[in-house]
Amino acid sequence: MEYKKVYLDNSATTPVDCEVIKEMQPYFADVYGNASSFHYFGRESKVVLDNARAKTAKLLNASPEEIFFTGCGTESDNIAIFGPLNAYAKKGHIITSKIEHHAVLYTCKHLEKNGYEVTYLDVDKDGVILIEDFKKAVKDNTLLVSIMHANNEVGAIQPIEQIAQALKKINSLRKDKIYFHTDSVQTAGKLRLDVQKLGVDLLSMSAHKFNGPKGVGVLYVKKGTAVSSITFGGHHESGLRPGTENIPYIVGFAKALEISNDKIEENDKHIFTLREKLKKGILDAISDVIVNGSDSRAVSNILNVSFNYIEGEALLLMLDMHGIAVSTGSACASGTSEPSHVLSAMCVDPAVAQGAVRFSFGHYNTQEDVDYTLHILPKVVSNLRSMSPVWNKKA
Ligand code: PLP
Repeated sequence: MEYKKVYLDNSATTPVDCEVIKEMQPYFADVYGNASSFHYFGRESKVVLDNARAKTAKLLNASPEEIFFTGCGTESDNIAIFGPLNAYAKKGHIITSKIEHHAVLYTCKHLEKNGYEVTYLDVDKDGVILIEDFKKAVKDNTLLVSIMHANNEVGAIQPIEQIAQALKKINSLRKDKIYFHTDSVQTAGKLRLDVQKLGVDLLSMSAHKFNGPKGVGVLYVKKGTAVSSITFGGHHESGLRPGTENIPYIVGFAKALEISNDKIEENDKHIFTLREKLKKGILDAISDVIVNGSDSRAVSNILNVSFNYIEGEALLLMLDMHGIAVSTGSACASGTSEPSHVLSAMCVDPAVAQGAVRFSFGHYNTQEDVDYTLHILPKVVSNLRSMSPVWNKKA
């Protein structure tokens, strides 16, 4: 059997950049003090922590006091949602979308069970919410809006700046401010993030999606946003995220963001070329395929394709036998046989959604990776279809 390792699951996670590892290295055993300790060792670590915070803030056009290090994107999302709601200390209404990552969706479902009202906005066929739907959804008791920056299954970019502008007007006429959170886990390191320009109050990120280490995230909280902590303990991260700061990972976060921001255009061009080559190759070589989502309204690293008459899970397994790593929907949702909630929201026919596979690129991918995938994929699809009674009847 032909076998070559090709990693096309960069939206699930990415390899850590060598420069990032080098930058992190001294903070495991050489500089290891607890940044909260008053002695030399602690002060030394505190300087490193402050520098990483300042670097991250500068890259996001934020100020250092607005940057909070967390354990991952999921944790950032949870604090971003519970934090302002807990600070309000009253129940109310939340607006989110049907295509959010489960870190937001399940948090909202939990809140719904606990007395909050939640509106889950629809999306169009490209996976994008309509600003008019958003405006109509706002109620007198709305407290929070959480809309992701780009979707993790199809890459659809949401109109964050437009929502922020609409909210600015709405908020100018109300007593209780409606806070605005965006989950930028899939856009950090891929789009140049400027929190002022985006106009959000809270923004979540996770280092492992842009060649940083797993297990470290950031939550940006705009100055003046009332947030209560959801865990309790020390005064770390201004008490919002208690727990001894993970200095090497935090250093890794800042370095990875710096590197990806430095190369954002170059990487984007490279990744888009690979994505287009794969897309064209698939459309040329395989019949009955549908590209889910849009090219122009999405991040360039995700290609979501439905191969009709086969199961995405079966295709994933067959590709894996040839060394090609892809995913069906998000990494957290794979392993379930439910059709993707994102494709369902985009009104993709359930049978078509079952055959969906996500190819997601990173800047380490090469033309050879795509050539090999295009060499294997048509054969695998053809083999699987030959086992499908519906396909054989059609053929
Ligand atoms: N939000 C989005 C859009 C994601 O894609 C992911 C991970 O796939 C997360 C949140 C969760 O991030 P983490 O794995 O760092 O918890």
